[in-house]
Amino acid sequence: MSNEKASYDKDMPFKVLAETFERIEIISSRTQMTVLLVNLFKKTPPEIIDKVIYLLQGRLWPEWKGLPELGVGEKTLIKAIALATQSTESEVESLYKSLGDLGRAAEKLKLKYEERMKKQSMSILSFIPVKKELTVNQVYDVLSRVALAQGEGSRDIKLKLLAGLLSDASPKEAKYIVRFVEGRLRLGIGDATIMDALAIVYGGGAHTRPIIERAYNLRADLGHVAKILATQGVDALKGIKPQVGIPIRPMLAERLSDPNEMLRKVGGEAFVEYKYDGERAQIHKSGDKIWIYSRRLENITYQYPDVVEYARKYIKAKEAIVEGEIVAYDPDTGELRPFQELMRRKRKHDIHIAIKEIPVKVFLFDLLYADGEDYTVKPLPERRAKLEEIIEQTEVFQIAEYIKTRDPEELEKFFLKAIEDGAEGVMIKAIHRNAIYQAGTRGWLWIKYKRDYKSEMIDTVDLVVVGAFYGRGRRGGKFGALLMAAYNPEKDVFETVCKVGSGFKDEDIDKLPEMLKPYIIDKKHPRVVARMQPDVWVTPALVAEIIGAELTLSPLHTCCLDVIKPGVGISIRFPRFIRWRPDKGPEDATTSQELLEMYKRQLKKLSG
Ligand code: ATP
Repeated sequence: MSNEKASYDKDMPFKVLAETFERIEIISSRTQMTVLLVNLFKKTPPEIIDKVIYLLQGRLWPEWKGLPELGVGEKTLIKAIALATQSTESEVESLYKSLGDLGRAAEKLKLKYEERMKKQSMSILSFIPVKKELTVNQVYDVLSRVALAQGEGSRDIKLKLLAGLLSDASPKEAKYIVRFVEGRLRLGIGDATIMDALAIVYGGGAHTRPIIERAYNLRADLGHVAKILATQGVDALKGIKPQVGIPIRPMLAERLSDPNEMLRKVGGEAFVEYKYDGERAQIHKSGDKIWIYSRRLENITYQYPDVVEYARKYIKAKEAIVEGEIVAYDPDTGELRPFQELMRRKRKHDIHIAIKEIPVKVFLFDLLYADGEDYTVKPLPERRAKLEEIIEQTEVFQIAEYIKTRDPEELEKFFLKAIEDGAEGVMIKAIHRNAIYQAGTRGWLWIKYKRDYKSEMIDTVDLVVVGAFYGRGRRGGKFGALLMAAYNPEKDVFETVCKVGSGFKDEDIDKLPEMLKPYIIDKKHPRVVARMQPDVWVTPALVAEIIGAELTLSPLHTCCLDVIKPGVGISIRFPRFIRWRPDKGPEDATTSQELLEMYKRQLKKLSG
């Protein structure tokens, strides 16, 4: 822990946070963001660091907890602002219309209201009690009560709570409270930046950053990790283990297309497993209680009552965390069905009908924790052996098909068999002593070999929307193309790769304004690095799968800028939209480093 004592004891004025929000809004670099966060955390008492972090992330708790969101409609919020500022709803509405920002409308009305009050008090010389400052705990507590008010009469309760909170808030505080409630705070601070600042303030320096990151990878709750760090010190984080019920950030694979190279890369011998085309699931079990988390760590338990049943019945350990892929299958033939089929099931309203129409199987590929033992630190063969021991395998709940090999030809044959059986390709996994489960990391211990690599086109990539261009002709008055970026995890920024306008169906184009609306911002996002100027800038959030003819060098794009040649970055020629990837967040996009590797392989192929 840092030696300095926080400026406040146990709680802190909310104003300190509101002022930080205001500064973050006008800065343009990640370094500046870190400095602001360091200053904020230095003032923050350790007892409330978790709440401060959630508020910075624009939420009340991690998404995976499955707790309700605020659930306040615009109408209720307008009413609350009107009540708190003694204005009429139509006054709030018209100001909102002219400013285009309900937060700023609230701020203005609060200012006016305060002026009126001041005048009144001067004219009647009455005594106005000095209002006490709102604190972080108070704001957090009221907002949590707003979220947790459910069922009959909850709309009134939410309204009263919010009107009360806004009455006590200063104009600036009201602006940010309103934006928070609307889900429009969007400060764009990445987890990586928060961890940098935490390491400096509580860890004793940047050298403790990896310890914080490891803890976060094992317990995907930055507020919770920060609280342990701030209250118990960095040593307490060193001993952290997975905990049933708290998701672990998934281990991810690199990609290659030459079996020889793959085997070399993982150290000669490997497990080669089917890469199933479904949804990744991290299944937690504690007695009869089951949780299922998606690749993005959303709690998807309620979507899979059938998988919950399988897990209860077929995981024999009392406590366990296992990972697998949920895949749709045809009940008549037993054959596996593609990812789209599973998505169709997710869209159905009545889950009990859906599970009959589109049944699923689970193929397990890893074990992260079992009965008090942390398996993430053990090599894959040991994890697999224990997984086989604690699972009762059945037709619908089984261990992923795999072989152990050091022979590239055998690998290639197994790959073809996998494709024939409806898988997407294979995963090549290292099995040496150091082949641990690297939570939250995309590394070379796992390599994916997908079917698309065999086709004429290059691999597909997943890119993030960071801007949009207005269309022409048939697309006049709509968006016609998107500016897409790759993620650079070292710098925690998004670097542009291409402008994509092909591949969209008419209905995709029609839906774009609505999809982009919540993310449109009036200037470039601080975590976006771009040379091209789109018509509108967009907060990095939406991920799409893109394919193209080849990778090229371009002076217009910033992905791996100056890495291959000065002044140019990597781009995609003839990019085409394939589909949205709602199962991926912006940091899950293809990385700049991956594109660089792809570019180098392409060069090698051309010269060879
Ligand atoms: P993709 O878009 O190719 O699914 P990704 O970014 O989601 O990739 P990667 O780690 O690159 O994740 O690829 C592995 C993905 O493949 C996992 O996230 C998982 O959903 C899926 N998968 C299917 N079978 C396996 C397996 N046997 N082992 C690991 N992952 C598997």
